[in-house]
Amino acid sequence: MNNTVAEKLNSIRATLPSWVTLVAVSKFQCNEKILEAYEAGQRVFGESRVQELVVKAAALPPDIRWHFIGHLQTNKVRQLLSVGNLALIESVDSVRLLKIIDAEAERVGVVVNILLEVHVAQEDTKYGFTPGELIDWILTGDYHTLKSTRILGIMGMASNTDDDEQIAGDFDRLAQCFHRAQRVSGLPAFCKLSMGMSGDYLLAIEKGADIVRIGSAIFGDRYICN
Ligand SMILES: *Cc1c(COP(=O)(O)O)cnc(C)c1O
Repeated sequence: MNNTVAEKLNSIRATLPSWVTLVAVSKFQCNEKILEAYEAGQRVFGESRVQELVVKAAALPPDIRWHFIGHLQTNKVRQLLSVGNLALIESVDSVRLLKIIDAEAERVGVVVNILLEVHVAQEDTKYGFTPGELIDWILTGDYHTLKSTRILGIMGMASNTDDDEQIAGDFDRLAQCFHRAQRVSGLPAFCKLSMGMSGDYLLAIEKGADIVRIGSAIFGDRYICN
């Protein structure tokens, strides 16, 4: 039986190709569980709320590389960038937010790595660029004005459904958008496609994911613990 966090983590790792980055999504999980994963060698963790990330980053080992994966309000950007070991903001869902991140990063003298969030799922509550909006924005060349932000690729989610064909189609749409954006932008750093969660990460990898974000399959149910 796969019971402990370390056992679950190791059995997931055994299924991942070497080039795929595993983000252990630790939102709503207590530090004890996060440390179990850390002690099993995991260094990349994902959080979806700024306040929770700030508190955890201060309490947990400094060599953790944090990914921010939640909807980011513009008034929280400053607080988020105060996290010294923030490795990647995966969920940049508007040009306005991107510009605010860039300005704040410049102000504090850091370079921030980001992914642009692309929305292909059926739910209309989700944030992000549609593929068309993203390509149109890249074609404007506006990204050349960014001073302190490095765009590393895109992040997306499949529809919340049991229909594997729908999920596969969503991942195909994300992969197509990614390759198109890569080609159109010509940015050498634009090379990461983040997609796939606990229930669908193997399919996401088949469809070309470089980063998978897995929470409940590692940590179990989520609680609010502080
Ligand atoms: C919570 C979350 C995940 C992880 O979901 P699980 O189903 O627990 O693996 C991945 N990506 C994002 C953006 C999330 O908010």
